[in-house]
Order: sequence, then structure tokens, then C-alpha cells
Amino acid sequence: MMSNVEFNEQNLFGLGAPLPEMLSKYFTGHAHLNPLTQTPNIANVTFEPGCRNNWHIHHMGGQILLVIAGRGWYQAWGEPAKELHPGDVVEIPPEVKHWHGAAKDSWFSHLAVEIPAKSGFNEWLESLPEEEYNKLK
Ligand code: MN
Repeated sequence: MMSNVEFNEQNLFGLGAPLPEMLSKYFTGHAHLNPLTQTPNIANVTFEPGCRNNWHIHHMGGQILLVIAGRGWYQAWGEPAKELHPGDVVEIPPEVKHWHGAAKDSWFSHLAVEIPAKSGFNEWLESLPEEEYNKLK
């Protein structure tokens, strides 16, 4: 596992601040948010080891993840989880239920690009059960 110093060197877009409560309530574990642009909305999201977000849906617009540092996971409903590494790109179509987050033994960061859409909104759902997450390496 890489050191925190090494991770911070690779986390080029900055750690930012702990998630605001309006978002952290939909995460298991601790994550940080560094807002970068407004239109389109792009932010660097950094997950501490073991941290992931709840199942959720980006209605109307979808989302693109650009992996920056560390190791993590993306899973769409009904599909196996995909391991993510720096340089990976995940295109999440609107209306697809999914979650993303860190591996249990690694920090993880991605840029989250919100695809602009009229009447777009995020729907937050249940958390990934611990026993499901623990099956992932
Ligand atoms: Mn998402």
C-alpha cells in the first residue's frame, strides 16, 4: 500500500474539505471534496480507505469519473464491481443505479464530472451492505 505522502503527491487536484453533512450522510466512511469548476460541475472527490458512497442515480444527466490516484471500485446495479486505477474513465449514463468508492486498503480519488441536464438531480438510495463490500479485494 502506498504511503499517505505518495498518495497526496498523486492527488493532483487537491484534497479540499470534509464532505458537507448533506453529502456525508450518503457515504460510509470519510470522504473529502474539492470543488474545481461550476459549469459543468467538476470536483475532486477523495475517499479514505474503506469509504464508499451509497447506491445512487444521476437522473437526466449522468456522470463521468476520471480516476486520479489510489485504488477503488465502481459498481453498476446487476453487474460485478470494476476495480479502478489512475487513468481509468467511467462513463455513467443517466438512470443507472451505482456506487463508487475506495478499496478497503487504499485511499482513492476521482474527478466527478456532472453532465449538465435540464431538471437533473441525484437520487440517493441504500448503502452497500458491509458483507457485499467486504467481498471486494
Ligand atoms: Mn455517481
